[in-house]
Amino acid sequence: MPFMKAIQVSAPGADFELVQKEIPEPKEHEVLLKVEACGVCHGDAIVKQGHYPGLQYPRTPGHEVVGTIAKLGSESHYWNVGQRVGVGWRGGHCHNCRSCLRGEFWACESPLATGISTDGGYAEYMVARMEVLTLIPDALSSVEAAPLLCAGATTLGALKNSSAKGGDLIAIHGLGGLGHLALQFAVRLGLKTAVISRDKEKEALARMLGAQIFIDANKVNAAEELTKLGGARVIFCTAPNSKAIGELVGGLARNGQLIIITFVNEPMQISPVQLMRGVRSVSGWIGGNAADTLNFSVLTHVLPMVEVFPLEQAAVAFDRMMNAKVHFRAVLKISEGQHE
Ligand SMILES: [Zn+2]
Ligand SMILES: [Zn+2]
Repeated sequence: MPFMKAIQVSAPGADFELVQKEIPEPKEHEVLLKVEACGVCHGDAIVKQGHYPGLQYPRTPGHEVVGTIAKLGSESHYWNVGQRVGVGWRGGHCHNCRSCLRGEFWACESPLATGISTDGGYAEYMVARMEVLTLIPDALSSVEAAPLLCAGATTLGALKNSSAKGGDLIAIHGLGGLGHLALQFAVRLGLKTAVISRDKEKEALARMLGAQIFIDANKVNAAEELTKLGGARVIFCTAPNSKAIGELVGGLARNGQLIIITFVNEPMQISPVQLMRGVRSVSGWIGGNAADTLNFSVLTHVLPMVEVFPLEQAAVAFDRMMNAKVHFRAVLKISEGQHE
């Protein structure tokens, strides 16, 4: 039986272990991917924390996966061996819930989450369901494409589904893995974009990526600054800090939306009066369309800024991501592809 290297977590709270395990066999509606690159996302922390329905151990994390199809399951039509494809957070849908029966697969009530309900891309090989694969355009390397599958799809999806239109003032709270992609997409969509972050280094990066306005939260009250500018049509919260998020509501314009796209575990405090007075709303957003995101990124030349690590250094990459040290997305480069 052939073996592969993989990173796994064997119990909630356990460290990443590098293990040798059997290369999995694709079932009828699955394909086997030879993984080329896998992004390291904040969502991977769920595997360490253990709070997710259906999460079983040991588990290999990773849901920003680019690889080539090495083997097809017996019913995996539509795909061919050798195609380079991506898999994001959505690992499959149930075909049987109210949403699936209406053809709204994206809203499946019992979806599979890649790297959480199934083994993910921190490995030399993984299996994936054929219905969630996305073809990777030749213009992108595997390392560039990987972060677009979760961080990219989430931020572009949140922007396109918000009420912001070209010319509107929007704000992006946080300039990390999600924020630096949200910023680039917002600028390409013609939005007047303010970044709320801290220090001179982040300001320089925000300006380089096209931000018209930088609000240094160490020096000023971000909500007050936005109000002076007329208030933001939408504020996208990408930094996992519920206290800071709650305080931003005051910076929204009338009918403004605060949209949370980051995992935050602590409760938020929001003033009901602030919501009523400006007819403002607070909502969350998850997921997005990977194919649309790859297409938009190629068309408008949006690329993630990445730090690349070998599979063996997954723990280092993960710690740098969790401590907001990585500029801006950590990606594991697992095998050499033809598009590097
Ligand atoms: Zn993610
Ligand atoms: Zn379903």
